[in-house]
Amino acid sequence: MKKTPTRLADGRELIYYDSADAVVRDAVDPRPLEPVATTTEIRFDRLLGDSVAIASHRQGRTYHPPADQCPLCPSREGWQTEIPAADYEVVVFENRFPSLTGDKGRCEVVCFTSDHDASFASLTPDAARLVLDAWTDRTRELSQLPGIVQVYPFENRGEEIGVTLGHPHGQIYGYPFVTPRTALMLRSLAEHRATTGRNLFDDVLADERADGSRIVLAGEHWTAFVPYAAHWPYEVHLYPNRRVPDLLGLDEDARAEFPHIYLELLRRFDRIFGDDQPPTPYISGWHQAPFTAADRREFALHLELFTIRRTSGKLKFLAGSESGMGVFVNDVPPEAAALRLREVATP
Ligand SMILES: [Zn+2]
Repeated sequence: MKKTPTRLADGRELIYYDSADAVVRDAVDPRPLEPVATTTEIRFDRLLGDSVAIASHRQGRTYHPPADQCPLCPSREGWQTEIPAADYEVVVFENRFPSLTGDKGRCEVVCFTSDHDASFASLTPDAARLVLDAWTDRTRELSQLPGIVQVYPFENRGEEIGVTLGHPHGQIYGYPFVTPRTALMLRSLAEHRATTGRNLFDDVLADERADGSRIVLAGEHWTAFVPYAAHWPYEVHLYPNRRVPDLLGLDEDARAEFPHIYLELLRRFDRIFGDDQPPTPYISGWHQAPFTAADRREFALHLELFTIRRTSGKLKFLAGSESGMGVFVNDVPPEAAALRLREVATP
């Protein structure tokens, strides 16, 4: 992998990731861009003990532009985008409209491919591997920035999820604190260690593999299953069989197998509701150990993938119980979801 860092006209960082070392990236951003005045305020909720990022500058961000005005496509004569080059493989840059900024974190955009009409699921294994390597590199780089405690690479796919740009892309959030869900996992991890002497992630994975009813896909180095208490109609957790705290810990064997496992999972997601349905909207994100956690070696890197669609043409809304009380009601039994995700395996 070759990495070429550069700067956009307003000073934001942009990094090209290329598979070939010979590639030269010297295009200059010619746009007369003024830096966006960003003002993120992190407010702490004293009742719930969590934090909210108040980012008022985001109201002006790009919203559903026509395909010929996509800001994530390569630049061409007459249309300068966020990427100055005429083509690219994988590119990462600082979001012009970030939710987290400065000493309050960082938001990056990851373009998975220059092909506007592609999706992650349509990438080749080599292209998906380059994205994995870019996520890993960003985790390493962001770990060096002052104030960043946790790195979360994720993808929102589909208008139903609120995606405002059709171009295949994801984001990376560098949080300045341990996120609430990770804090809950760390608490459960510590309690389990105290009562059993064992690692909770190891026990969960071993139990799922022994039971088998919720296993979706088992590779040599990765295991995908629907969790016992899945919150979402179709939800899959993907773990490396050898526990590591973050993407940096993955060995070459796991890295080499990942694209095949993950692409198959995404393709199955698109088939859950039948071939006549539009692509399945999903959220997919990496859970990694916070850099500050004392027991970070105990944490298990894993990916959580889920869709908010519950049946053809119907979405799962976070209504009264979920939004108001944090209690999920799931209409699809996890074992039935796993069965469906095995049925739609690529022949
Ligand atoms: Zn595009």
